[in-house]
Parts: sequence; C-alpha cells; structure tokens
Amino acid sequence: MAGILFIISAPSGSGKSTLVSELRKQVGGVDFSVSWTTRAPRGSEAHGREYNFATREQFERMIEAGVFLEYAQVFGSYYGTARQALEDARAAGHDLLLDIDVQGAAQVRARMPEAVSIFVLPPNPKVLRTRLRNRSRAEGVVNEEEVYRRLSEASKEIENYREYGYILVNDILDRAVAQLEAIVLAERFYRNGEAIAYRSRRVLEVAAACLQSNSQERLNPVLEAFGILGSSGQQQFNFGEDSDEEDSVDNHEGTNDD
Ligand code: ADP
Ligand code: 5GP
Repeated sequence: MAGILFIISAPSGSGKSTLVSELRKQVGGVDFSVSWTTRAPRGSEAHGREYNFATREQFERMIEAGVFLEYAQVFGSYYGTARQALEDARAAGHDLLLDIDVQGAAQVRARMPEAVSIFVLPPNPKVLRTRLRNRSRAEGVVNEEEVYRRLSEASKEIENYREYGYILVNDILDRAVAQLEAIVLAERFYRNGEAIAYRSRRVLEVAAACLQSNSQERLNPVLEAFGILGSSGQQQFNFGEDSDEEDSVDNHEGTNDD
C-alpha cells in the first residue's frame, strides 16, 4: 500500500477506541478499518460505524470465502479485518489503522512486517477496572461478569507488549493522544519524507520516547502492577489506592463510550 499500516492493540478498556477517535479528529489521511464481529452491539454502537455485526454462520462463510486479512476469537466472539479495507486505503493513498487484538496483530505482522505496531497500556489494574465499569455503566447497567472477564484477560494480553514497536501508557488522555499523533507524524516523516509542519523536533522526540526500546522505565511500574514483573512469578493484580480516576465518573472530555 502507498500509505502506512498502523496496528494498535490494548487490553479491552485501556482507551484505545478513545485514542483512535481523538487521533482521527486531529490527523487527516488515516483510514480506520471497521472490523467484522459476531459479538452483540454495545450501547449506541451502529452497524458499519463501530463494527460490522454478523452472525457466527455469516462470519464462518466469510472465512471460507477468504474475506479476511486476519481474524481471531476474542472473549468467545469472532473479530476480523476485511482485506477490502487494505485495498480501499491503498486506492485512496491513505494510511490505514487497525484496532485489533494481539492474535490478529501477530497474523498481520507475519504477512506485513513493515506495519507499525503500537501497544496501549492502562496505568494499572485499578484504573482499568474503573474504565471498564464506567463504560459498562454508560451503556446501561454495570456488567460485573463482563468487567471481570476483560480484566482477567488483561495481563495475558499485556505480556505481548514486546512484539510491538511503540508503547503508550494511557494515563492522561491528552498526553497519550499527543504521543499517538507524534508516532503517526514521525513515521510519515521517516518513511515518506513527509514534512512535519510545526514543532518538528519535538514531535520526533515524543515519538522516539515511545519506542519500545526507550519505554522500559515507564513500563516497569505498569508491568509490576499487573503482576508481570513480580519476583513470585504469580500474577496478582495490585488494586492499591494508586488511582486518581474515580469510579462512577467518566472524568474527561472528548471520549467515546463504545
Ligand atoms: P478500549 O477501546 O481500549 O476498549 P475505550 O476507548 O472504550 O477502551 O475506553 C474505556 C473507557 O475509559 C471509556 O469510558 C473511556 O471514556 C475511558 N477512558 C479512555 N481513556 C481515558 C483516560 N486517559 N482517562 C480516563 N478515562 C479514559
Ligand atoms: P471490543 O469487544 O471491546 O470492542 O473488542 C474486544 C477486542 O477485540 C479488542 O482487543 C479489539 O482490539 C479486538 N478487535 C476488534 N476488532 C478486531 C479485528 O478485526 N480483529 C481482531 N483480531 N481483533 C479485533
């Protein structure tokens, strides 16, 4: 493709959809691939906007027909990216952003090693739980079972961070959005020689600081809180009082609630 392929993965509830929607408001020329899924629509989600919704039978027929660039089962439902998304972005000369899980990301990287991959982490399990609950509440009633399920998958997903080129810790939303924007602009600069209109040096510095190779210091407390860096080798969530996000209050502006 003429443009750059960006892959973004994160444990559910980390704020990936929020970051992507903020990025797209600020940076043009990035297409977003609307995935197919067999899970039920959440809250105000609409077919063709957040996802294309399908039954398992329809999805399996699409697999047989070779529709998907990648697909995986996540939380018991199928999710997949249609090849068409890549073709459309290529035809338009746009970059393409895939919001996919760690399994799908591995499939895409194997076929397209040039893809730029970004892993988003929540600062700690307590904040993640709060975000999952707030989102669930915004969609109706808090589904504790669903929150617990997504929370308990988080550590397993986080262990895959090493496969990703860039790491974002989504603590303060504005900062994480600025970092994501810097990564996109820096990659355009390095790969396509595209000029960065303003603050060019700063943008390149911000992006470089997010490279996985430069992120260990920021990462260690997050890994520790999720029980990934512990000496016992056992995964034990740290729900300590280290969160400044309040349960029940969606405490920032400009997010989506899908
Ligand atoms: P994901 O797409 O990773 O599953 P969402 O973007 O749906 O996550 O975010 C989950 C919840 O967390 C949403 O209610 C969103 O508004 C909120 N959220 C996202 N980023 C932040 C942030 N930096 N600070 C506070 N709340 C956030
Ligand atoms: P959610 O149900 O919270 O929207 O998404 C659950 C998980 O499925 C997230 O990790 C999200 O990145 C992932 N996902 C969404 N679309 C796709 C897709 O097309 N392919 C794969 N492999 N995962 C996806």
